Amino acid sequence: MRRLGCARREWSERLERCERENGVTRERRGIGRDGKGRLAGRTHPPARSVRLVTVLPLESLSGAMTDPETLAVTIVDGYVDEPAHFGVPPYISTYPRYAAGALVDAGVPREQITYHTIDRLRDEPDYWRDVDEADLLLYLGGMTVPGKYVGGTPAEPDEVRKLAWTTDGTSLMGGPVKFGVGDENAGATETERRDLDFDFVAKGDVEAAVYDLVESGLEGFNNRMRDVNEVSRWAQEGAFIVEQHPNHPQHLICELETSRGCAYRCSFCTEPLYGNPSFRSPPSVVGEVDALSDYGVKHFRLGRQADILAYGGDGEAPNPDALRQLYSGIREVAPDLETLHLDNMNPITIVNWPEQSREGIRIIAEHNTPGDTAAFGLESADPVVQEANNLNVTAEECFEAVRIVNEEAGWRPGGDRDAAPTFGDDAPRRLPKLLPGINLLHGLKGEREETYERNRAFLQRVYDEGYMLRRINIRQVMAFDGTDMSETGAEIANEHKQLFKRYKKRVREEIDNPMLERVVPPGTVLPDVHLEYHQDGKTFGRQLGTYPLLVGIPGERELDRTIDVAVVDHGYRSVTGVPYPLDLNGASMDELAAIPGIGDRTAGDIVVNRPYESVADAALGTEFDLTQFMTTRPLERAD
Ligand code: SF4
Repeated sequence: MRRLGCARREWSERLERCERENGVTRERRGIGRDGKGRLAGRTHPPARSVRLVTVLPLESLSGAMTDPETLAVTIVDGYVDEPAHFGVPPYISTYPRYAAGALVDAGVPREQITYHTIDRLRDEPDYWRDVDEADLLLYLGGMTVPGKYVGGTPAEPDEVRKLAWTTDGTSLMGGPVKFGVGDENAGATETERRDLDFDFVAKGDVEAAVYDLVESGLEGFNNRMRDVNEVSRWAQEGAFIVEQHPNHPQHLICELETSRGCAYRCSFCTEPLYGNPSFRSPPSVVGEVDALSDYGVKHFRLGRQADILAYGGDGEAPNPDALRQLYSGIREVAPDLETLHLDNMNPITIVNWPEQSREGIRIIAEHNTPGDTAAFGLESADPVVQEANNLNVTAEECFEAVRIVNEEAGWRPGGDRDAAPTFGDDAPRRLPKLLPGINLLHGLKGEREETYERNRAFLQRVYDEGYMLRRINIRQVMAFDGTDMSETGAEIANEHKQLFKRYKKRVREEIDNPMLERVVPPGTVLPDVHLEYHQDGKTFGRQLGTYPLLVGIPGERELDRTIDVAVVDHGYRSVTGVPYPLDLNGASMDELAAIPGIGDRTAGDIVVNRPYESVADAALGTEFDLTQFMTTRPLERAD
């Protein structure tokens, strides 16, 4: 490939010389020489002074061979949330890792690649200097499903624009932002494609775009998808970037890609825009985990795929051998990993291939870490909505898939696998290995009042028939260009907003609440809860993993550390816990009073009568077996 590469300094000198010689000027960012990915006709903000420079004939640059080693690149992560890909902290998506690998592969030295999250730029404005001074600014982001996040706040469109206005270098944006941008990151919104004042938008794979852009001396690129060899190489070469993430090393979870695309075509979904499924081989994924482990990562989620059960198969049917190679390979290269979870399992795969699916689910439950969730995209239990939106699974089929996952993976460590699903007094006090989650989407074509009742009835049936769901995710649709929903837009979602609110409340109260008690009864131990923030005199934290439970702990404890917690109570979507094991000789009044059966008065008596030799000595007379979550330490050692 002919390299037109120029360091920015060389560019300026050549441009100035040309300008002097020719006297021809033009807005720098409007050069738009060949349309290869470069966007034309953008409007610049008045706040930024427009530099006038010369149009340089392409041929005149051909001698300006520039070494990519001179490039300073800044990657800004505005976070992503796609149907099958998540990258809001504590998650890091594949995009910055692949892009960093592509840059290295193109010859940019690692030490010249800087990575910032949008939250770090907000919190520490000095880092905007890296945006300003970059030769190449790469913005990664895009929310194609709406959500609320505890660990970070996705970049808003105005912030993304500011990045483009701030940098003096070439600016490229990519990731799901290419599918469209709404006025805000919220459900029931419509989106449109916008360039947000960037020089380039990668309409194919951003990692391929950045590679080609550097190869061309920042001139342009052809929008293309990367190939399998590239992704294997870039995933490993880019692993180093995780060290620059603010959450590294302890509180960071890497989203891993096993495939892209989907065999189905649901009306609202952006995943089919990637085409039919294409899988990465087990050695490709395992090699990436190996590289990430070398950089201190201990938490992983196989989340970048539409259906983990279909991994390595023909696109639809399961291939248990491939799953075994994948999971056992990961365990082999990362024996000390602390989290191995997944996201997205298609219930229709389980129904259509029940025996292979059972085997695949058993393999997953054997290798994963507890608390894992297989998110099922039921989306609607109403056949009218299913038909109108090309949804691929009926309520009856989804129920069957819920049953099978419960039977094969709803056991708890230390318990009887054959008795799954296990809950109740005799079940071990650990989270089940793998449970289904249910996604329901509202505002779809054909939605009616009855839809809400059908969805609620489906969830009630799961509870009544003795199965467990790890979580129920209820959202309103975002309509994207290129999907069937783009014609309907947010109209139905807006019309049904009140109905949606009432129904959501009812599901939280009538289903989520008792279900949570079944899944995490008092005494359940949650290891390594990361303490994240204080509110109302409590400390809130979560484990790292897929859809972790929010845990509230009495008192304001030191943040950014992890503790083991025993669950003592639960709400609709969160639980209350105390440090585990709780030292009877050192626990605070609030902690003691939070334990079932111990009120304020008993807690006061316990404190007055300290120290105790054993938990039994306290003779608390509660209905719970307190040895499940309490211990006694000599008083002088208690804090
Ligand atoms: S099954 Fe439907 S919702 Fe799930 S990834 Fe495929 S197209 Fe999207």
